[in-house]
Amino acid sequence: MDLVTKSAAELGELIASGETSAVEVAEAHLDRIAAVDGKVRAFLHVDRDTTLAQAREVDERRAAGEDLGPLAGVPIAHKDVFTTRDMPTTAGSKILDGWRPPYDATITARLRAKGLVILGKTNMDEFAMGSSTENSAFGPSHNPWDLARVPGGSSGGSSAAVAAYQAPLSTGTDTGGSIRQPAAVTGIVGMKPTYGGSSRYGVIAFASSLDTPGPFARTVLDAALLHEVFSGHDAMDSTSVDAPVPPVVEAARRADVNGLRVGVVKQFAGEGAEPGVAARFEEAVELLESLGAKIVEVSCPHFTYALSAYYLIAPSEASSNLARFDAMRYGLRVGDDGTRSAEEVMALTRAQGFGPEVKRRIMLGTYALSSGYYDAYYGKAQQVRTLVKRDFDTAFEQVDVLVSPTTPTTAFPIGERVDDPMAMYLADLYTIPANLTGNAAISVPCGLADGLPVGLQVMAPVLGDDRSYRVAAAVERALEDRWSGPLLAKAPEL
Ligand code: GLN
Repeated sequence: MDLVTKSAAELGELIASGETSAVEVAEAHLDRIAAVDGKVRAFLHVDRDTTLAQAREVDERRAAGEDLGPLAGVPIAHKDVFTTRDMPTTAGSKILDGWRPPYDATITARLRAKGLVILGKTNMDEFAMGSSTENSAFGPSHNPWDLARVPGGSSGGSSAAVAAYQAPLSTGTDTGGSIRQPAAVTGIVGMKPTYGGSSRYGVIAFASSLDTPGPFARTVLDAALLHEVFSGHDAMDSTSVDAPVPPVVEAARRADVNGLRVGVVKQFAGEGAEPGVAARFEEAVELLESLGAKIVEVSCPHFTYALSAYYLIAPSEASSNLARFDAMRYGLRVGDDGTRSAEEVMALTRAQGFGPEVKRRIMLGTYALSSGYYDAYYGKAQQVRTLVKRDFDTAFEQVDVLVSPTTPTTAFPIGERVDDPMAMYLADLYTIPANLTGNAAISVPCGLADGLPVGLQVMAPVLGDDRSYRVAAAVERALEDRWSGPLLAKAPEL
């Protein structure tokens, strides 16, 4: 029984029926990590003993009759932006060197409560700023489809781990596309829930009005099962939504689009996308039509300004959030030899502890918020945000979901964009509107272009997360029939 190729749902059932155990499943995945992570570099931290201890505890809880739900005993790779009591948390930065969080993030705690077994912490762009993991202070992760290419970012360690069968599930955070974009370029499923639908407590903050944790998986159903574990009101997060969790698992099982109105965003239909991506997108729209969806072209005229607004709003919030790394409270402290003032130590620590992209964002954000420029930059960007929201509101009067490609290009070569921040930022062209407004959006594989995966984005109204799952599951089912199996089966052996 090759446990690492099974879905999370299948593993959960095998463990529940006693055919295998959480320990056996964890061992199989730890062995896979040991075999391939030298090439993929998805993980920043793996600790076999801690993981196996968790797995043993789950087996004991199950044996004692505790009902832990469908993912009990299933392993998961956890983005290194979530605090974990028993593992380091770096956010991909040197500035958190040596820091051990004194508490678990709400999502970490919910994973444990439902019996998921944490395999380790995954690589990411420093403070989640980036689209390739090349901004990680610990070096890039590699795309399992082509090791010379990026696995996307910022949650690129998490996407690579799932695509390389090192874990059936992983966690991510999506501030401007950091779940959907890496999912798209590695051929897996990634979901950004409605903002506030998943708790930010214990997630190291980048841009607090945008940051949204969400799941990665190889199947739409697995993503929905994990989504459900994450969800529900959290009193520790002041922006947590106190509303019933959308019926995402039911929607993933339903997997039909009959009679659903699907809007094609005119401004994003092929606009700015490379030809292979545009072609797969058009085919996906035709597929949806053949499955009974009604296709409607919808105009969202302000979506094209979303990227510019995001790159003012996100750095502004980051410049404030990252002020807490002051050399006193967390991790790294440079030059504290008794001769320097606190201010000097702070300056030295921040100069050494932050990488170039983080410094760029802090400078951009500080500038956009400075008196005299605030109205022209930050204020204007917030106005654009309102216009993007109105575009969504108008669109959802006409249609049930909106579709676009997830990313303009497939996975790009490592090194190609490191010296060109604008080119890197453009990876988020299609994903950012849903972040600015808090809408739900998923990426599901829809084919290959030149041998590399392409993702279809399905955007849904706020708290309409189930619609994204329903459409994604229908696409997944139809394409698996066409391909006689999942897209990932076409990936080369590692
Ligand atoms: N790539 C975007 C950025 O660099 C989005 C990052 C994210 O979603 N965390 O800001």
